[in-house]
Amino acid sequence: MAPAYDVIVLGLGGMGSAAAAHLAARGVRVLGLEKFGPVHNRGSSHGGSRITRQSYFEDPAYVPLLLRAYELYEQLERETGRDVATLCGGVMVGRPQSRTVSGSLRSAEQWGLPHEMLDAKELRRRYPTLTPADDEVALYEARAGLLRPETTVAAHLQLATRHGADLHFEEPVTRWEPYRDGVRVHTAENTYTAGQLVICPGAWAPQLLTDLNVPFTIERQIMYWFQPAGGTGPYVPERHPIYIWEDAAGVQIYGFPAIDGPDGGAKVAFFRKGTVCTPETIDRTVHDHEVRAMAEQLEPCVPTLPGTFIKAATCMYSTTPDEHFVIARHPAHAGAVTVACGFSGHGFKFVPVVGEILADLALDGTTHHPIELFDPGRVAIAPA
Ligand SMILES: Cc1cc2nc3c(=O)[nH]c(=O)nc-3n(C[C@H](O)[C@H](O)[C@H](O)COP(=O)(O)OP(=O)(O)OC[C@H]3O[C@@H](n4cnc5c(N)ncnc54)[C@H](O)[C@@H]3O)c2cc1C
Repeated sequence: MAPAYDVIVLGLGGMGSAAAAHLAARGVRVLGLEKFGPVHNRGSSHGGSRITRQSYFEDPAYVPLLLRAYELYEQLERETGRDVATLCGGVMVGRPQSRTVSGSLRSAEQWGLPHEMLDAKELRRRYPTLTPADDEVALYEARAGLLRPETTVAAHLQLATRHGADLHFEEPVTRWEPYRDGVRVHTAENTYTAGQLVICPGAWAPQLLTDLNVPFTIERQIMYWFQPAGGTGPYVPERHPIYIWEDAAGVQIYGFPAIDGPDGGAKVAFFRKGTVCTPETIDRTVHDHEVRAMAEQLEPCVPTLPGTFIKAATCMYSTTPDEHFVIARHPAHAGAVTVACGFSGHGFKFVPVVGEILADLALDGTTHHPIELFDPGRVAIAPA
């Protein structure tokens, strides 16, 4: 029998690496078990960049968590010396009544977040790459920007190891069960026991958390890199914001400044519009018609961006019916198991605060952070 741990963390992607770092920093014995290698590209935490912002159109309830996440991202940079975040500013663009604009404004006003409203003319003046229609407006937020997902995961793994966690890669968990006052976790190589289990399974939630009874949808999403016509000059982060842009039909795209040098292009994607998949069946090839659809969507709003297509990559969203997260003690195993999943395509900006919450829940059974919105009971369906 392998040594006993205080806490086992299943999955060392975005959330699990943060949980392992926060738990280990609190001085408990942590084992992290990951199916793939450190910082891989087969889950949801790769692709070079993620948007972060505070005027959160999804729900104002996320704002206090974002404020804490910003502090913790700064702390992560200080503690590891890594360049994780670039706050280049961000614009949420659309018609005034669109969810992207009106929802962002609601959060900004409710929480007193610094922001500016720009009309189409002012948006074009500040950012000549962006060509809004006359009836479109933008909420500008100086504190929005981008995060580097691979660097974030590497930084949390580094901190977890520094604080004494054992991290095992290429060691998938095959099953787990309650054992005495805690859990027993099996892999092909070994069986481990622990007082607490924290499950951060990403797109593997449907198979690892069947008894949560949450109907997750796993979606294939595509990230595209284009070399702008005329070069990346106007797209560098010193001059270009991140953007989320909602069209009249409610379709959202989002994009980043050029962070990969003069020939690396700039990244852009559809926010939702994914196709249903599983981690086993996902089509990793990006097809010509998909690249064309992205370029056509950009044409009216960022017309110079789709100059030359450079590359594309796939990634998975794990979506809940209401697109809010699931973070809770597992209702069927409340004494020993904590879950964090269903991040619905918008979880990365919360990674360090989710790590802190998971450490609270695993060690104290409760957290002072507001996580009522993330109770799985709200979307659980009765088992068949
Ligand atoms: C294209 C794309 C764009 C996005 N853009 C943004 C954005 O701009 N802003 C934002 O905030 N969020 C964004 N997100 C969402 C964000 O990236 C995710 O919410 C976040 O990365 C999810 O982290 P996770 O830890 O849940 O999943 P993952 O990072 O995938 O981690 C899950 C881990 O569990 C491991 N695992 C699974 N099964 C087992 C097993 N049996 N045993 C051991 N290990 C196992 C997996 O290998 C994986 O490493 C985006 C996501 C995608 C795909």
